[in-house]
Amino acid sequence: MVKKNYERIMEEIEKACERAGRKPEEVKLLAATKTRTPDEIREAYEAGVRLFGENRVQEAREKIPQLKDLEDAEWHMIGHLQTNKVKYAVGLFSCIETLDRKELVDELLKRMERKGVKKMDVLVEIKLSPEESKHGCPPENVEGLLTYTFQFPQLNVLGFMTVPPYLEDPEEVRPFFRELRRIRDKMEGIFSRKFPELSMGMSHDFTVAIEEGATIVRIGTALFGPRKY
Ligand SMILES: *Cc1c(COP(=O)(O)O)cnc(C)c1O
Repeated sequence: MVKKNYERIMEEIEKACERAGRKPEEVKLLAATKTRTPDEIREAYEAGVRLFGENRVQEAREKIPQLKDLEDAEWHMIGHLQTNKVKYAVGLFSCIETLDRKELVDELLKRMERKGVKKMDVLVEIKLSPEESKHGCPPENVEGLLTYTFQFPQLNVLGFMTVPPYLEDPEEVRPFFRELRRIRDKMEGIFSRKFPELSMGMSHDFTVAIEEGATIVRIGTALFGPRKY
């Protein structure tokens, strides 16, 4: 089941890349594994997935150690990260996709030093919709957060991530993806450096995200089926 889904998604990624004149190697599928069991995650690994994302540190602390034998699996934190959970996140994840405030930078540096972790990848999560439930750095604060973070070479800023509102019609989500890319391009101009990664697009809108430049698409239900809570 997961393998069939994986193959179908990879085909859709290829087709979206073709439409956009992009190379399929530029796009990574990240399996969003919240609520999924270690066995389901193994199934995705066997199908070919190497990049995984968890939303909650507590859940990740229970599951990731059970999957340590998947040596080339990479784990990203894709949910809102509370400051008091950073001490557990360091060591579990290679990348925090949800860096959204200076306080998190400070806490990451402190915990990395204590654990002897020399380098971590981060993406800055940008809040592009007003809903209370959405997290991220407001667009007007992104330049300041980047300036602050660049003081610390231990944090490798690879790009940006966003969680747009859920809208039935993926075409209605397109402006949010376009906006994330616009901010990325603007920051590349301001800082004269590249931000190669754009993490955007989920099960129902990832092909549109790819057309707008996504390099990481975060997919849950299309890969594993509906979530049971
Ligand atoms: C759950 C989740 C996804 C995947 O959502 P699906 O609609 O199941 O593909 C992607 N990104 C984040 C941040 C999520 O929490």
